[in-house]
Amino acid sequence: MTDYEYLVDAISAVTDDCVVWERGKFADGYGRVRMDGKSRRVHRVALQLTKPAPMGKVCSVTGEWVPGHKLQAAHGPCHEPLCFNPRHLAWSTGHENMADKKRDGTHNDNENNPQCKLSDADVALILLMYKGPQHWARPKTGPTMAELADQFGCSKGHVANLLVGRARRLAA
Ligand SMILES: [Zn+2]
Repeated sequence: MTDYEYLVDAISAVTDDCVVWERGKFADGYGRVRMDGKSRRVHRVALQLTKPAPMGKVCSVTGEWVPGHKLQAAHGPCHEPLCFNPRHLAWSTGHENMADKKRDGTHNDNENNPQCKLSDADVALILLMYKGPQHWARPKTGPTMAELADQFGCSKGHVANLLVGRARRLAA
């Protein structure tokens, strides 16, 4: 059974308990499903399959309109990153999701980015992969920031921060 078949099968079960992904996961702790040769977030796919994202919504925190492709598949109230029970998921804006996590005490302030928990080894690897052995070479042959973000399960912006050394400084 492929990851995708397993996902579809599991979300067909009617239960109010957490449905926990037991296959691959991203560095940030969220489940990873391979689809069409790409890695995708299990909980996001599960919500999209059962309740497709709206065109957009007005953020209840900022009052701003947020388009559908920027909405997050938010866990609540279970906040279990590996849970992909669609009944535990809802489309939220980034601000709403953060407000929920703070209210429920699941926001992690220890990390620079709560969406992306990378170990020092991950960070070193990202820097190495991006710069490559010959980072002065043109054209650049290594992975792009977007590819690294996809591979390590965090945002492109976070990878960009790492690469310019703003988010984290390695004791070299
Ligand atoms: Zn859950």
